[in-house]
Amino acid sequence: MKKKIAIIGSGIAGLALGNLLKKNQNCDFMIYEKDDGLKFDEGYGIQLSTNSISILNDIDFDNIDKKQIFNPNKINFFSIKNKKICELDLKVFNRSDVKYTTLRRSTLIEFLKEKVYKNNLKFNKVVKKISELKGKMLINFEDNTNDLVDYICVCDGVFSNTKTIIENKSYKPKYSGSVAIRKILKSSNLEGFDNQNISIFMGSNSHIVSYPINMKGDLNLVLISRTKFNSENINSILEKNILKQNKKFSDIFSEDTKSWPIYVSNKIIKPKNDKVFYLGDAFHTLLPTMAQGASQSIEDAYELSLLLSKNVTNAHSTYHEKRSKKINAVIYRSKLNYFSFHLSNSFLTKIRNYLMKTMTKNKKFLNLYLGKVYN
Ligand SMILES: Cc1cc2nc3c(=O)[nH]c(=O)nc-3n(C[C@H](O)[C@H](O)[C@H](O)COP(=O)(O)OP(=O)(O)OC[C@H]3O[C@@H](n4cnc5c(N)ncnc54)[C@H](O)[C@@H]3O)c2cc1C
Repeated sequence: MKKKIAIIGSGIAGLALGNLLKKNQNCDFMIYEKDDGLKFDEGYGIQLSTNSISILNDIDFDNIDKKQIFNPNKINFFSIKNKKICELDLKVFNRSDVKYTTLRRSTLIEFLKEKVYKNNLKFNKVVKKISELKGKMLINFEDNTNDLVDYICVCDGVFSNTKTIIENKSYKPKYSGSVAIRKILKSSNLEGFDNQNISIFMGSNSHIVSYPINMKGDLNLVLISRTKFNSENINSILEKNILKQNKKFSDIFSEDTKSWPIYVSNKIIKPKNDKVFYLGDAFHTLLPTMAQGASQSIEDAYELSLLLSKNVTNAHSTYHEKRSKKINAVIYRSKLNYFSFHLSNSFLTKIRNYLMKTMTKNKKFLNLYLGKVYN
């Protein structure tokens, strides 16, 4: 008998899982999304490291229009005053068809929707109640429809309401202490930015990341800046944290920008019901300083699709243990990056720069710090 699976949420985690299950003859699935359509208007960028690209290639990502993506070769690290500190060669983690990739989030969603849009995706579906019925899971939606399934895969993002319903307890993420201010720079307006590589500019309490998102050379710019929750508008954050350090950046971010508070999970939760799995931001909301949110969501989907297709009896524990171990490794590195990207003290900054120059050339260290995540 085919297993019946409900996927709640059609972000990167939900759509990736749908695509991977689609390849598998043992499962029937439906993706339930609360909104009335997919969001293509979020034009900002996303980085995908080789760990997720090798999974996406299983679902034909290697056939995507190459003009819509970019493969940066390195990360250049600068002080916020634009002085180069060191560079990190990303090519050492690449293989012939598996390369570190940057693109618009909407390009990735467009690709992921292709194979599931017609028959496996329902919109305007808000979960009202979830209960067990004769060894299966009954989902009641607010529109008075329901579905009886073998497994529920919860992919409804950082504020996961489905998790609250299932655990009967609210698991609110916590504010990380920083906001993200984002902007797309058109290729015609690059103002001296590198449109071939990733650049990270590190300053006191803030850092800026820029990277190309397509072959046209459009750039994604994101400023991560420490500030109290909802206390200030973009201009006052720029004035307080960036203007004194580099006026150029303050000017660039003062127009056509959007800001988001950055949240992180309090802790990773193992669902109390063994027919329920958490994926993506609903499972782990990560700091953006390893750029692993989307890649780990795709890894979650891959791991779970393997377990469900092979009908593994202890899939629940195996999934939780394996994924928690990897996620904890990412959390540790993201926190270390967050700390070191935002140093203020000039003595500590000098030590950091010296260590970064040394470490980015040390193969053993790179394999341990990045290889463990990217492989
Ligand atoms: C500043 C910043 C920069 C980032 N940069 C990167 C990067 O470079 N690389 C990277 O890998 N990651 C990055 N990330 C993280 C990445 O965007 C997320 O980790 C990823 O999008 C999570 O995907 P998801 O599918 O779990 O959640 P989402 O993309 O949030 O999708 C959740 C979906 O569920 C739907 N939904 C919500 N509630 C319900 C409900 N009750 N019922 C049904 N549907 C529901 C939503 O409408 C949405 O469609 C960044 C994050 C931030 C904040």
